[in-house]
Amino acid sequence: MTTLRRFRQVKLSKVKVLKREDYTPDLMLMWVEKPEGYTFKAGQYCTIGIDGIERAYSISSAPYEDSLELFVELVHPEEGGVLTPKLWELEVGDSVTIRPRPKGIFTFDPKYSSQLLVATVTGVVPYVSFLRQYLHDGMSGHRFFVLMGASYHDEFIYDGELRRLEAEHPDLVTFVPTVSRPNDPLNGEWKGEAGRVNTLLDKYVAEFGLGPENTLVYACGHPGMIESVKEIMLPEGYEVKEERFWKED
Ligand SMILES: Cc1cc2nc3c(=O)[nH]c(=O)nc-3n(C[C@H](O)[C@H](O)[C@H](O)COP(=O)(O)OP(=O)(O)OC[C@H]3O[C@@H](n4cnc5c(N)ncnc54)[C@H](O)[C@@H]3O)c2cc1C
Repeated sequence: MTTLRRFRQVKLSKVKVLKREDYTPDLMLMWVEKPEGYTFKAGQYCTIGIDGIERAYSISSAPYEDSLELFVELVHPEEGGVLTPKLWELEVGDSVTIRPRPKGIFTFDPKYSSQLLVATVTGVVPYVSFLRQYLHDGMSGHRFFVLMGASYHDEFIYDGELRRLEAEHPDLVTFVPTVSRPNDPLNGEWKGEAGRVNTLLDKYVAEFGLGPENTLVYACGHPGMIESVKEIMLPEGYEVKEERFWKED
């Protein structure tokens, strides 16, 4: 009853879709208005909805930016998707609801000089926000190692931005994208790393010269990947922060 009452008291605002970019049939970036006074920390998520159906979306824009940028994967109705098929119908100028406050503790922890950021597909979102805000704030003294996995190379989406940051700030950003299906014809032109991102941890931890005393590990996205990262890194003494986007059945 208490929960229900609290739920009813949440005052939702309506925000307009400002821009939309479709990258594959199942992956899009969407920018929505940031409500007046909406403040968040890089790595937090917003809760948006349509017709009373609400879901969480990590925010890839940085707190200093004017709008909320979201990277959304379509879960088809036959796979159980409810809100995302509705999001796919949206056009610029349409509205979604948004809860008044962001949530989440999957935020940048500056205590560690090395930040190992592991993601699958949309799980890269919090890291994009970390890096944009970090550079905007003119911070220094940290290194960010982004290890990013996807089945197909066209699912990276933020690879252009991450490669540019790596080129412009080689002492700050290292970006390693990997495809888990290198032999699939759709990855025919892929020349980069291959294998599931969790299976490459040992290799890259050694290559980057990381140790648990000054490295924080973040894992975001696929729940199976997160479990595997924890199984590999926790026994080595690393602290692992996690954000699961869904539960495995
Ligand atoms: C903290 C948090 C942050 C999130 N951030 C993002 C984000 O940045 N981008 C994003 O696309 N999603 C994100 N999600 C997932 C999002 O909230 C929705 O669950 C997702 O968009 C599917 O919504 P839906 O209503 O269509 O399906 P739901 O009713 O939410 O889920 C239907 C079924 O699909 C499963 N499922 C949900 N997402 C996926 C997926 N990507 N792949 C495979 N199965 C899935 C669910 O476990 C469930 O079994 C986040 C979730 C959480 C908890």
